[in-house]
Amino acid sequence: MKPAPFDYRRPGTLSEAIAALAGEPDAKVLAGGQSLVPLLSMRLAAPSLLVDINGLPGLDTIEVTGEGDEPGVRVGALARHAAVLASDDVRRVQPLVPLALADVAHATIRNRGTTVGSIVHADAAAEMPVVLTLLGGSVEVEGPSGRRTIPADELYVGPLESSVGHDEIAVAAFFPALRPGAGVGFEEIARRHGDYALVGAAALVEGESVRVGFLSVSDVPTVVDLSGVADDELGDAALAQLEPMDDIHATAAYRSQLVRVLTTRVVRSAQEMAREGM
Ligand SMILES: Cc1cc2nc3c(=O)[nH]c(=O)nc-3n(C[C@H](O)[C@H](O)[C@H](O)COP(=O)(O)OP(=O)(O)OC[C@H]3O[C@@H](n4cnc5c(N)ncnc54)[C@H](O)[C@@H]3O)c2cc1C
Repeated sequence: MKPAPFDYRRPGTLSEAIAALAGEPDAKVLAGGQSLVPLLSMRLAAPSLLVDINGLPGLDTIEVTGEGDEPGVRVGALARHAAVLASDDVRRVQPLVPLALADVAHATIRNRGTTVGSIVHADAAAEMPVVLTLLGGSVEVEGPSGRRTIPADELYVGPLESSVGHDEIAVAAFFPALRPGAGVGFEEIARRHGDYALVGAAALVEGESVRVGFLSVSDVPTVVDLSGVADDELGDAALAQLEPMDDIHATAAYRSQLVRVLTTRVVRSAQEMAREGM
């Protein structure tokens, strides 16, 4: 199938890109195109205009930085998954990001797809939205009324729906650093390596706090608090806070079993990292 007709612009500055989106509620930003182009080709999306941000300068950076008092890593909107995965800075500052990115699609898709694009695309089967939510990260967006920061827990408002406005461009995502003595773990089950996960889980252990985020379980990224739960009750305690969905990929019963198994595994990995360091 071919896409429905659309106009195309490739601005050279961020302000031109924002101006191009203004007054065009059906326009879409084009970043790596690895989610948007298939949607166009299948006619599941038919935007009037594509605003290609690949010509904007200064958006492909990956920086170790601080947000207020909080250290972390800031990933620009044109940083490709592959560059983020290969970054020693990211690995050192927040190891959960590369742990999860290694399971995002295949190398060819990671070479083109952007980490920020994945976060804004808001697919509950994707790894990066859950990682950002679990870590308490944020997204920096710019639109006609200036720049604002959206905390991850205000970002996901429904299936494939984020709170980024239609006239706003996400310029960066901020992942807080792993605190000393804390640990993370990540695992997912997919039919083939690189496929979207049937279920995935990410854990963050910080002192007494144990939190686990899930992908492909609900229609938005979901994080549960398992602090104080005994090791042999982790899976059931997670399930008590979730309602695994039924779809063509897996039944709710199968997903529930994967939640039980993966919760225990990722919490154990995170506890080991917290004890022994990276
Ligand atoms: C075969 C295949 C397998 C895949 N498997 C996985 C997987 O296992 N896990 C996974 O997480 N992903 C997977 N992906 C998707 C991939 O990670 C995409 O790269 C990613 O979801 C979107 O990034 P992108 O830069 O390609 O965004 P695009 O496709 O260009 O855009 C996606 C959406 O986000 C919006 N958008 C993008 N960037 C911005 C921005 N800066 N500001 C505002 N809006 C923006 C676009 O308007 C569009 O609505 C897969 C893709 C394919 C084709």
